[in-house]
Amino acid sequence: MKHIIIIGGGVAGMQCASELAQQGVRVTILEKEADTGGKVKNWHKLFPTFTPASDVLSGLRHKIAKADNITIKTGCEATQVTPNSVRLASGEELSCDAVVIATGYTLFDARIKEEYGYGIYDNVITAADLEEMFNKNDVRLADGRVPRRIAILHCVGSRDEKVCQRHCSKVCCVTGVKQAIELKQLFPSADVFNFYMDIRMFGPGYEEMYREAQQKYNVHFVRGRISEVSPTIDNRLQIKAEDTLTGRPLKIGVDMLVLLIGMRANDMNTTLETDSGLQRQASGFMQPKDAFLGNAESNVEGIFYAGAITAPKNVAEALCDGATAALRVSDWLRNK
Ligand SMILES: Cc1cc2nc3c(=O)[nH]c(=O)nc-3n(C[C@H](O)[C@H](O)[C@H](O)COP(=O)(O)OP(=O)(O)OC[C@H]3O[C@@H](n4cnc5c(N)ncnc54)[C@H](O)[C@@H]3O)c2cc1C
Ligand code: SF4
Repeated sequence: MKHIIIIGGGVAGMQCASELAQQGVRVTILEKEADTGGKVKNWHKLFPTFTPASDVLSGLRHKIAKADNITIKTGCEATQVTPNSVRLASGEELSCDAVVIATGYTLFDARIKEEYGYGIYDNVITAADLEEMFNKNDVRLADGRVPRRIAILHCVGSRDEKVCQRHCSKVCCVTGVKQAIELKQLFPSADVFNFYMDIRMFGPGYEEMYREAQQKYNVHFVRGRISEVSPTIDNRLQIKAEDTLTGRPLKIGVDMLVLLIGMRANDMNTTLETDSGLQRQASGFMQPKDAFLGNAESNVEGIFYAGAITAPKNVAEALCDGATAALRVSDWLRNK
């Protein structure tokens, strides 16, 4: 029986494994963390449908548990890849007939944008922190109070030459709108401001969410980038920005600032380029063989891609990629 190794047990890797297993090959998922699920296991409800992230993961885990030809090895970090072998951080080497790399992306470290005060001021949090608070059903300020005025800042660590992240992370505008709605559902009398440069609502149902945020929930959208955040004497945050639609400088006090951190390429991608001869894009994400017809293939025969390893993607796209990669692997094995 042919043996395929999938590196990464996020949604893309899990979907790929379950599709490959149905085609009668032996699959091993290597996951460096203690559990599968990737970033999605940290999210609360998914845009655009507000489906609990845990429902998507339990659906995938159920499909995998039903298959007796899938092995999941958690706590296993892959460090080197060839089409026929994967080396682990432990030094062990596993052999296989093909490899699917589904190692996803890395969250931008908000501390790099010092001017926003993440890690310096209480109540400056990231979108990922807010998901964790939603999951714990405990959205509060550091001193236990309920936030009355909240700002959400778009494009943190994306579309930003200064931090070498020129790409648009694609999912953060809609995440910002989703989180603004969830905050208004929790705190109907709170004021929520989204500071954006452009609103990119590219997917089905996204534009409708954006309208709903304004019309039903009265979320305020301000076109402008925040230039500086500083603490006030009464434990609040003062935000300086420019409203670029009116050209007026703005100074507002808020209780909480949520930074919509972007998706950046994994550091491991550099090693994939140097050691495995795989091509990277200028953004650092891996380069598929062809943008249209070779989307799941790499430039190296026998190495395939699935999910956000090649670009920022949403969960639906990552799942679709997982299924596509499985099809491409079986075609390739058949024609080899
Ligand atoms: C704040 C935020 C909120 C989001 N909310 C939504 C939402 O509501 N709806 C939506 O559709 N999308 C959302 N997304 C996007 C979503 O997170 C991605 O679409 C999804 O995580 C991509 O899945 P993936 O499997 O490709 O990658 P990942 O989720 O990154 O999974 C990759 C897996 O590979 C593992 N791995 C990495 N390197 C190695 C290695 N060397 N060896 C072994 N294992 C390794 C990782 O530990 C991880 O488990 C959000 C993104 C952000 C930033
Ligand atoms: S999706 Fe929106 S917030 Fe995210 S980088 Fe693109 S424009 Fe900025």
